[in-house]
Amino acid sequence: MHVDALPTMARRPANPAAWRRTLLAGFVIQLLLIVFVTAMGLQQLRTAADNLNAVVDLHMRKQNLTKTMEVSARQRTIIMFMLTKIDDPFERDELLMQFHQKGSEFATARLALLDMPLNDLEHSLLTMQRQLITHAQPLQDQVIDLIGADANQAAMDLVLRKTIPAQNDVIAVLSQLDTETQRVAQAASLKAREGHVVARFWLYLLSGAALLVGLFVAAVVLHYTHRVNREREQLATQDTLTGLPNRMLFMDRLEQSLIRAKRHETLVGVMFIDLDRFKRINDTLGHASGDQLICGVAGRLRAVVRADDIVARLGGDEFVVVINDVVALTPILQVVEKMLATVAEPYNLDGREIFSSCSIGVSVYPNDGTDSGSLLKNADTAMYHAKNNGRNRFQLYGAAMNAMAEERLQLETDLHHAQARGELIFHYQPQLNLETGHIHAVEALMRWQHPDKGLLVPAAFLNLLEETGEIVNVGRELLQSACHQTAHWHAAGFTSLNVAVNVSGKEFWHDTLLASVCDALEQSGLPAHALQLELTEGIFMEDIDAAVDRILALKALGIVISIDDFGTGYSSLAHLKRFPIDILKIDRYFVGDLPNSPVNKALISSILALCQGLHLGTVAEGVENREQLESLQKLGCQTLQGYFISRPVPVDEVIGLLQCDWQQTLGTIRT
Ligand code: C2E
Ligand code: CA
Ligand code: CA
Repeated sequence: MHVDALPTMARRPANPAAWRRTLLAGFVIQLLLIVFVTAMGLQQLRTAADNLNAVVDLHMRKQNLTKTMEVSARQRTIIMFMLTKIDDPFERDELLMQFHQKGSEFATARLALLDMPLNDLEHSLLTMQRQLITHAQPLQDQVIDLIGADANQAAMDLVLRKTIPAQNDVIAVLSQLDTETQRVAQAASLKAREGHVVARFWLYLLSGAALLVGLFVAAVVLHYTHRVNREREQLATQDTLTGLPNRMLFMDRLEQSLIRAKRHETLVGVMFIDLDRFKRINDTLGHASGDQLICGVAGRLRAVVRADDIVARLGGDEFVVVINDVVALTPILQVVEKMLATVAEPYNLDGREIFSSCSIGVSVYPNDGTDSGSLLKNADTAMYHAKNNGRNRFQLYGAAMNAMAEERLQLETDLHHAQARGELIFHYQPQLNLETGHIHAVEALMRWQHPDKGLLVPAAFLNLLEETGEIVNVGRELLQSACHQTAHWHAAGFTSLNVAVNVSGKEFWHDTLLASVCDALEQSGLPAHALQLELTEGIFMEDIDAAVDRILALKALGIVISIDDFGTGYSSLAHLKRFPIDILKIDRYFVGDLPNSPVNKALISSILALCQGLHLGTVAEGVENREQLESLQKLGCQTLQGYFISRPVPVDEVIGLLQCDWQQTLGTIRT
C-alpha cells in the first residue's frame, strides 16, 4: 500500500498579543531597574560625600584646636620672657593681659578638644599634657610674682632655667598630639574616600547591568520584529495547511514566469487541478481526513515537478501547477499524465485505504493567453470540461470551450425544469442469456427528451445532474418508474424479467437511497430479486468499508447488486473478493478488440474464471458484432448486452424484444 509522507503543517504564527505583553513587561522592568539603579547610585554617592565632608570638618576642627593649644603655649612662653625685659608698667600690663588671654585661649581649646571624639593615644597625650601643666603652671605663677615685685633678673633666671623647659615639655606633648591628630585625620579621610570609591563602583556596576538588560531587551525586540514580519509575509503568501504558495504568491510567480518566457520565447504550462469527489471524502471521513488527503496530494504534486516549477493551492481541493521553460507541449503533457497517475494512487488515511483522482485543465502560454489572469481562467475552464468528460483526466484548453461553457449554462437551466416536465425518461436495453436464448434482463438507461435538441444521452447532461445534486431526486423518480414498468411486464407474462438501474456515486452515498429502493419495491409490487442496481468501482475506491456496509444493507432487501464497467477503475481483480456483489459487468473496452486482442481475451477469461470461483454472474457489455458475440461465447460468457443484440429502446418497444425469437434472429446461438 502506498503510504504518504504527508508534508508537515506550516508553522503556527507567533502569538503577537503574548509577545507584546512580554515586551511591555521587559520595558517596564528595564525602566524600573534604571530608576532604581540611578536612585541607589545617587544615594550612595551622597552618603559617601556627606561622610567625607563630616570627616574633613571634624578633623579640621580637631587640628585647629590642637594648633591653638600649641601656639598659645608657645606665645605664653615668649610673652613671659618678654615680661622679664620690660620696665614700663603700661607695656607690662599690656603683655600680662595678653599672657592671660593666651592662657584662657589654651584652656578653651583644650576643653573643646576634650568634647571631640578622641582615640586612646590622643586621650593619654592630653592627660600627659595636663600632668606637665601642673608642674609648669606654678613656675609661671612664680615668674609673674617676681616680675610683679620688679625682680626681673630673678624672674629671667627662673624663666630660662625652669619655666621654659617645663613649658617646652608641654609643647612637645602638644606637638605629638598634633601629629597624632593629623594621622587620625588622614586615616579617616582615606576611609571616607574609599567609601566614595565603593559607591562609585556600585554605580558603575549597576548602570552597566541596566545597560546590558537594555541591550538584551533591544535584541529581543529586534528578533521579535524580524520574526513577526517574516511570519506575516509567510501568512500572506502561504497556504497554512500545505505550506504551498497561496493564490497571491502564485499569481506573482506566474507573472515572473511569463516575463521570463517572453524573453526566452519559451512556453509556460498552467494546470488547474481539482480533486474528484473530494466533498464525499470530507463528508464521510471528516475534515481531518480531508485535510490529510489535501496534504498528501500537495506532496505528490510537488514531487512530480521540478524545483523551479510552481505548485500552489488556491483553496479547497483546487491546486495549480506551472511548468516553466519548455519549448513543446509534450513535456507539459508528460507532467500532466504523471500527476493524474500519482494522485490516483491509494492513500492511507488513518489506516483506511482511500482512492482519489483529479481532473486537470491545461492552458499554455502564449497559445491560450498572454497574461496570468486569462491563463488561469482558461485552465479552469478546461478543468471543468475534464470533469464533464468523466473525471480522472485532463483537458487542454481550446477557444471552443468558452462557447461550450455558455451552452452548458443554457443546458443547466433547461435541465432544471426537465424533471418537472417529465422529459427525463428511461430507455431499456436488453441483456441476452445465451444459454436460454431469452432476454434475461433490461438495463434502464436515462434519456432526456429535450424540446429543442431532441433525445439526449446521459453524456450530455448526467454530469450536470450530479453537480447540481438533482440526480438524487431524478434517480428516485426514475427508479420508481422502472419498478412499476417491470411489474407491468411481469403482469404481461414475462415473470423472469429483471431490471437493472444505474446508481451513481452521489446517489449511492445519499442517505435516502435505502428508503427510495424500499418505496419503489413496495409501491410497484416488484419482487426484490428482479431489481438489480448497477454500481461502479468508484464507490469502493472512496471508502471500501463504508461501501461494503451500504451494499450489505441493500442486499438485505433481497435485491441484486452488479458492478458496472469493471476493469476501467483502479481496483484490481484481487480486490474483487472483498466486494459483496452478485454480477460483474465486463466493460465494453475489453469487448471492443475481440476477437483480435489476445490480451483482452486472456483478461476476460481470467475475469470469468474468478467470477465462477466467487459465484458471480457476468454480463459482457458493448457487443457490437457477431465476431465479438462468438468470441465471448467461446470464452464462456453467458449474458451479453450491446448494439448487436439491441440498442436501448423506448419503453413501448421492449415487449417486441421480449417476444423475439433470439435463437432464430441471431442464428448462431448454441444452447
Ligand atoms: P453504462 O451503465 O455503462 O451503460 C451502458 C452504455 O453503453 C449506455 O450508454 C449504452 O447506450 C451504451 N451501449 C450499449 N451497448 C453498446 C454498444 O454495443 N456499443 C457502444 N458503443 N455503446 C453501447 P448511455 O445510455 O449513453 O449511458 C451512459 C452511461 O450513463 C451509463 O453507462 C451509465 O453509467 C450512465 N447512466 C445511464 N442512465 C443512468 C441513470 O439512470 N442513472 C445513472 N446514475 N446513470 C445512468
Ligand atoms: Ca450500467
Ligand atoms: Ca457499463
